Amino acid sequence: MRILLVNPRGYCAGVEMAIKSLELALQRFGAPLYVYHQIVHNAYLVEHFSARGVVFIDDLQDVPVGATLMYSAHGVSPGIRQEAQARELNVIDTTCPLVTKVHGEAVRYARRGYTLVLVGHRGHDEVVGIMGEAPGAIHLVQSVEEVAALDIGRPERIAYLTQTTLSVADKQDIEAALLRRFPHIEQPRTDDICYATHNRQQAVRKLAAKAQLAIIIGSQNSSNSRRLADIAQSLGTPARMIDGPEELQQHWFTTVGTVLLTSGASVPESLVDETLDWLRQHFDASIEEQSAKQETQHFHMPPQLRRLRERIGIPSTVNVQDPEKATLP
Ligand code: SF4
Repeated sequence: MRILLVNPRGYCAGVEMAIKSLELALQRFGAPLYVYHQIVHNAYLVEHFSARGVVFIDDLQDVPVGATLMYSAHGVSPGIRQEAQARELNVIDTTCPLVTKVHGEAVRYARRGYTLVLVGHRGHDEVVGIMGEAPGAIHLVQSVEEVAALDIGRPERIAYLTQTTLSVADKQDIEAALLRRFPHIEQPRTDDICYATHNRQQAVRKLAAKAQLAIIIGSQNSSNSRRLADIAQSLGTPARMIDGPEELQQHWFTTVGTVLLTSGASVPESLVDETLDWLRQHFDASIEEQSAKQETQHFHMPPQLRRLRERIGIPSTVNVQDPEKATLP
């Protein structure tokens, strides 16, 4: 069996920053350490950190007054920030800067009196946070049909924003529908879909047709991972999403000569390595790295962790691709 191992895959800069920040905060402040929602949408990482005393909460009332609270990479609404302040929590904000950019756009447009349309997935943590920036002014759509059903009249000033991890193709369809309905609608100067989402989707789009099966490592609630599976399927290549190698089943591969293997932006590389080991063991698989694009982006940790790291001399290159082995001095 041939494995086409897709590159880029796995951690984006935002996830790497969030995981490094959580690792450092946990080792320096100790457990329990509270995180609002899942730090990133990955079941393995959530389990790994939960076992070490990280408490993932959905309600700030579950955090004792004065405790340390981390915001996840998906960001939070201003309402959550105010509540955290009122409870005198020691907040560490690991919102991805590319999500913060969309929050900033929402605030700027809303201040100037625009009606806003957000293209995103209802209930996703990132979407909930952005909607909170201008309640009443932002309308969520997740399909072309929902654009047609928008009940907002013909606002003079209207703009749209998008969730960072949408399918590029779906976004283009919805964008076209918005432009048909509101020809004067404005969009931000730079695309809201992030570089990591673009690159991972483009790589799968380029390679999927060469394989009879796509294995996407990523959790079901990971928007960017799900989009990778959708893209492979849309190109006629059946796709299976797995959280890790323990979910693989031998019968999936009976008539398969070539497998495409990739991972979502919140998946540590150790899970890819273990999946490859399983495939080698069971099918004597040969691995071909397929590189579509080099990524060089890195994001800084939140300021208070940066200062702490500088004070105690921790290198900026802590490896968190295998959380089991991530140790800090
Ligand atoms: S997927 Fe994109 S927006 Fe989300 S954390 Fe990664 S870089 Fe940031």
